[in-house]
Amino acid sequence: MTESYVITVISHTSELTSAQIKSIESSLLSEKLNIKEFTTKSLSSRAIDYHFITNQESSHHLQSTLKQIQLNNTSPEYDIIFQKQSTRQAKKLFIFDMDSTLIYQEVIELIAAYADIEDKVAEITERAMNGELDFNQSLAERVLLLKGIDSTTLWDELKLKIELTNGVKPLCKALKSLNVVMGVCSGGFIPLAEHVKQELGLDYAFANTLGIDESKKLNGTTIGPIVNGDKKAELLLEIASKHNINPKDAVAVGDGANDLKMMSVAGFGIAWNAKPKVQQLAPACLNTKSLLDVLYIMGYTEQEITNLI
Ligand SMILES: [Mg+2]
Repeated sequence: MTESYVITVISHTSELTSAQIKSIESSLLSEKLNIKEFTTKSLSSRAIDYHFITNQESSHHLQSTLKQIQLNNTSPEYDIIFQKQSTRQAKKLFIFDMDSTLIYQEVIELIAAYADIEDKVAEITERAMNGELDFNQSLAERVLLLKGIDSTTLWDELKLKIELTNGVKPLCKALKSLNVVMGVCSGGFIPLAEHVKQELGLDYAFANTLGIDESKKLNGTTIGPIVNGDKKAELLLEIASKHNINPKDAVAVGDGANDLKMMSVAGFGIAWNAKPKVQQLAPACLNTKSLLDVLYIMGYTEQEITNLI
């Protein structure tokens, strides 16, 4: 059975050069993959679509070949995204990770700097990265370090430090105008996830809640279920079900290993400037400087994007 597919190439700089385009096209066409009706469409000076029809076997082969090309390239100048044409614009739900995705920072590091405990938090991060601690254990250890911090001023001060990722505001505006439901599911903390939700006009915010004592100081614990990788996937499915959205029409966007599960339960996932392991396993990778480039992945041209934002 044949089907329509599209490969989108997005430059990391301001344009795709003709040399780059020539090299991409020659590698695509040299694959001898039963590609039919091969056409190109320019989305902007930085992004181009290649549309074609092929069978499932060739599509799998092409997809893994393109992934290897991307992963083997130590200094890639563009991203290559492979997907079915039929589903690329049918997105009804976007769930975003927060830290290093919607915002540039890792909130736990902001809190550590605020409380002057960076060394201790870095040590736990290191152990977690070495596989000595899972997410829940490392969260519990980090949260314990926060015990005694006055929560009344903490969040207000941190809200001032939060930097939204370039392109995320217009992206959310465009998705809103396309009637897409949007949420943030964060392994961080709810006051800041709520703040980001408000800033971006999202529909949902989920994150961990820190316990406080009677004098409003953090008591070193969390309240309620931990938002980890499994919970993020569960929340995506819950939100989809609430809106009668087929999870196949959902997109998960994130940078960490904790985001892979929600990408796998959604129909599509975008690894945003992600860790290598995440790039390897995610359906699509975007390593540019603006999250607005997600709209190229959905097939919108520069003019259409201007109209949407
Ligand atoms: Mg993250």
